[in-house]
Amino acid sequence: MHNWYACSHARPTFCNVCKDSLSGVTSHGLSCEVCKFKAHKRCAVRATNNCKWTTLASIGKDIIEDEDGIAMPHQWLEGNLPVSAKCAVCDKTCGSVLRLQDWRCLWCKAMVHTACMDMYPRKCPLGQCKVSIIPPTALNSIDSDGFWKATCPPSCASPLLVFVNSKSGDNQGVKFLRRFKQLLNPAQVFDLVNGGPHLGLRLFQKFDNFRILVCGGDGSVGWVLSEIDKLNLHKQCQLGVLPLGTGNDLARVLGWGPSCDDDTQLPQILEKLERASTKMLDRWSIMTYEIKIPPKHSCPTTPEGADNCQFHISAYEDSVATHLTKILDSEQHSVVISSAKS
Ligand SMILES: [Zn+2]
Ligand SMILES: [Zn+2]
Ligand SMILES: [Zn+2]
Ligand SMILES: [Zn+2]
Repeated sequence: MHNWYACSHARPTFCNVCKDSLSGVTSHGLSCEVCKFKAHKRCAVRATNNCKWTTLASIGKDIIEDEDGIAMPHQWLEGNLPVSAKCAVCDKTCGSVLRLQDWRCLWCKAMVHTACMDMYPRKCPLGQCKVSIIPPTALNSIDSDGFWKATCPPSCASPLLVFVNSKSGDNQGVKFLRRFKQLLNPAQVFDLVNGGPHLGLRLFQKFDNFRILVCGGDGSVGWVLSEIDKLNLHKQCQLGVLPLGTGNDLARVLGWGPSCDDDTQLPQILEKLERASTKMLDRWSIMTYEIKIPPKHSCPTTPEGADNCQFHISAYEDSVATHLTKILDSEQHSVVISSAKS
């Protein structure tokens, strides 16, 4: 199923159903936010149902089976190629502003002429983000306990699970969600507002090793971290932050800056994230409670001991307060660690 949204197109764009132009100076029509399939409003009901693949089952009969096992073919979408598109086979210009013609792969972004397609290798190399992409061929069955079986091929060295808070930073969250689905397998991208972090983490918890990217503010990060604690996944995943909107102290401290608002930078950000180093992060539970200083006679020691007892309690309170202040005020790791230890 496609995810339609109404949009206008600044350059000539053609309907993938009836192949006619979407008319008007800026062509209005429907576009699928994941695979960019275009359709007139009247044509959308007749659109083929195959949006960007997510699982092995969704690839269907196009799957490649050879001596190396199963492999992923390109997923071609016809026409509406970017200006100055070049054919990956003959290196000549391809696409047209006059009609729906030639093809582009939704995964590796390769473009080919219809006539050249047969000469192009059939297996899709998945392109720039292949380290992060979980190929649909890897998602082939859900265990009875509700997890994906983890069968990632070597190309997917470090699968990335993406959580986006779609409510973050005005409309930024929605744009990032859309862009991540275009770049990766839509099945590895989750909207935090729509179901929270639990479902995504559960589905991927059989993967030995994966990375998580949280796009949102400190609240979103805290939410995902708590869920990781609950599911006891902290040994098999690392978490990165892409700050959206405001309230991003953690991202700032970790060196990702205060806020990201340019969704066209995502491929570069994903590459940076692949090379990023990891840091251990302490998570604190701070408990506060009121206590009554026990009256002297109930202190289970001698009268001198009772004085002593009260003295110890208030000394302890003072020292906890001092250390907490140090931890909360300091930006130096050594101070935080030594205060926490004492
Ligand atoms: Zn149409
Ligand atoms: Zn689609
Ligand atoms: Zn491809
Ligand atoms: Zn060609």
